[in-house]
Amino acid sequence: MLIDSHAHLDSPRYADDRELMLRRAWEAGVGAVLAIGIGEEPAQMHQALEICRQFNGQPGIPKLYASAGVYPHYTPEIDDTILAKLEVLLAEPEVIACGEIGLDYYHEGAPRETQRKGLICLLEIAAARKRPILIHCRPKDNTSDAWDDLLEILEVHWRPTGLGGIMHCFGGNYEQAGRSLDLGFLVSFAGNLTYPKAQPLRDVAARLPLDAVLVETDAPWLAPAPYRGKRNEPAWVARTAETLAELQGVEAQEIASVTTKNFNRLFDLGPDVGN
Ligand SMILES: [Zn+2]
Repeated sequence: MLIDSHAHLDSPRYADDRELMLRRAWEAGVGAVLAIGIGEEPAQMHQALEICRQFNGQPGIPKLYASAGVYPHYTPEIDDTILAKLEVLLAEPEVIACGEIGLDYYHEGAPRETQRKGLICLLEIAAARKRPILIHCRPKDNTSDAWDDLLEILEVHWRPTGLGGIMHCFGGNYEQAGRSLDLGFLVSFAGNLTYPKAQPLRDVAARLPLDAVLVETDAPWLAPAPYRGKRNEPAWVARTAETLAELQGVEAQEIASVTTKNFNRLFDLGPDVGN
């Protein structure tokens, strides 16, 4: 069984076929999905949890977990109401992670200083609720600016918690991956691992220890080859897992088994998957 460690199941792009999409994932061998709770704005942070509650317990559908967090672009909107909402959500048993949160200096949807301050504020809440974090980190092209700032912040504000987290849709270099592991993070690969231009990323993926990796879709975005450009969905996490297996020189089944183990270890979950 595979675990899709990052999918936006609350996306309006699944409005017409969410249940069928989840059934296809189960058919494809996906035993669990972490539904990301950022919505399309912070007021929708709870939607991932709602989807968990709607579908959990139904046979033929992966076990669903949820996160809640404020995407870097929305850090200017952080206020007491949003923080209170996040605190309440993170206390729910299904909401196992805080995210995705982090720094995006590529789109720079919010001033960098606002993003950094917002991130630190979110880290405090995640720490209080003892929830690992899901990090989005995107530097300007050909720079390491966002990574440098991120790792510095995590060193001070996150390492002491010992909670770790996931570097979602990892796109950094080998050194940044190594520093992430040292901070107690897992490195999660998305569909872009399969893209022709991603050779540097594949070189990193080939060198990481198997107990440090995860796979994800980031659905509905970033569909892996041969579905690139289409609406992505959790069933297709299998393509990324196959690519990772080739790079690591192991069977796809082993990638499924180690990534599931890694996920369950990080979140302190039992070995069971599926409903
Ligand atoms: Zn995402």
